[in-house]
Amino acid sequence: MKFYNLKENDEVVSFAEAVKQGLGKNQGLFFPQTMPKFNNIDELLALPLVERSVKILHPFVEENLSVQELTEIVTDAFNFPALLQPINSDRAILELFHGPTLAFKDFGARFMAKCLQAFCAKDAKETGKDKKVTILTATSGDTGAAVAHAFHGIDNIRVVIMYPKGKISLLQEKMFTTLGGNIETLAVDGDFDDCQALVKQSFDDKELANTIGLNSANSINISRLLAQICYYFEAVAQLTRAKRELGDVVFSIPSGNFGNLTAGLFAKAMGLPIKRFIAATNVNDTVPRYLETGQWSPNNTIATISNSMDVSNPSNWPRVEHMLKSGIVDKDCVSSVSIDEEQTQSTLLGLNKLGYISEPHACVAYKALQYNAIEGEFGVFLGTAHPAKFKEVVESILGQPIGLPKELADCAGEPILSEDMSADFAQLRAYLLA
Ligand SMILES: *Cc1c(COP(=O)(O)O)cnc(C)c1O
Repeated sequence: MKFYNLKENDEVVSFAEAVKQGLGKNQGLFFPQTMPKFNNIDELLALPLVERSVKILHPFVEENLSVQELTEIVTDAFNFPALLQPINSDRAILELFHGPTLAFKDFGARFMAKCLQAFCAKDAKETGKDKKVTILTATSGDTGAAVAHAFHGIDNIRVVIMYPKGKISLLQEKMFTTLGGNIETLAVDGDFDDCQALVKQSFDDKELANTIGLNSANSINISRLLAQICYYFEAVAQLTRAKRELGDVVFSIPSGNFGNLTAGLFAKAMGLPIKRFIAATNVNDTVPRYLETGQWSPNNTIATISNSMDVSNPSNWPRVEHMLKSGIVDKDCVSSVSIDEEQTQSTLLGLNKLGYISEPHACVAYKALQYNAIEGEFGVFLGTAHPAKFKEVVESILGQPIGLPKELADCAGEPILSEDMSADFAQLRAYLLA
């Protein structure tokens, strides 16, 4: 299968090219030319995660990866579970945070890293020389950790991660700045927008980009989205057959850049029985306002306790819009709800009363479900991060300490290896070329 640029439709590339390029011409997003459809869903759902995921992903990647190569990649990438935990008789959380950095981004980042590694090796074999690849990413927390861990130890891929110095939690910082090896981290004297501007300037500098083989590994990369399709199938597979045959399964998705929603819509288009989606946002509510008024009018981004969703111009929205408008999915299958800070906090307390310790992002999704789901629907909300990643906030709302999982406890005592840098492109450029 080929992928085409949603903005410049003449640009058509293979999966490998889409992964290596990230974005198409004129900042256009890549999108599959056709949507594979599965007729025998029950057979597919009966398979174990890795075997099933290979079947789901193969039509997208078959031009570049054999079933065996894909199986190796998926086995390596998805080496931790996605767990559906019941909250009560008509609600369950899909826990996506059992990977090495305790957030759902591990699924996409690990799959992307293994794909890129395979494609670099193939290119090197064909051309007889190693091409340099540099992953340059700006992070306000979770992405940096997932990307750093996914690429750590992969030869020939250099990873440079920039983050705003002093503006992310110490535990978040420790999760990606203590690895060393091919993972370099820069503590930038500025805010997240400064870091992003530096990434953008680097990509605009074609000479620099070509010399060091720039790639961003951010959430617009199609490989990350494709990986995320697999856990929607896994969630439905863990429901009893009776529940899924009711046909009333609704997913509520805590949304920032809307990658998770995009992947869910792919799963539905491929035949997975999902009735509809609720895109839950915090007070950064560009999408709920858009669906109500038809006006796309992003406001300034507001900082919230669900900070990974503090996005006012979601980068994956063009893919969602395309699917809704072209009929790939039913245009009424997405509704969107905005949840404020006070509601997020009271939901955390409410879930705790039900015996479940959660964190702000999942709480936004749970609350949206409580507002929007109707009688008879079974609601699944996504647990996008482990509560311990947001230890300070969660402890202060609950008024009780929560434990640290091993992944966080392990890195908490390690030294931070970052270099300091001012928010200055000339300095970054010199660093990258050194
Ligand atoms: C990245 C992130 C989100 C937002 O996901 P999108 O796919 O960008 O909508 C939600 N919750 C957590 C914890 C995240 O890290």
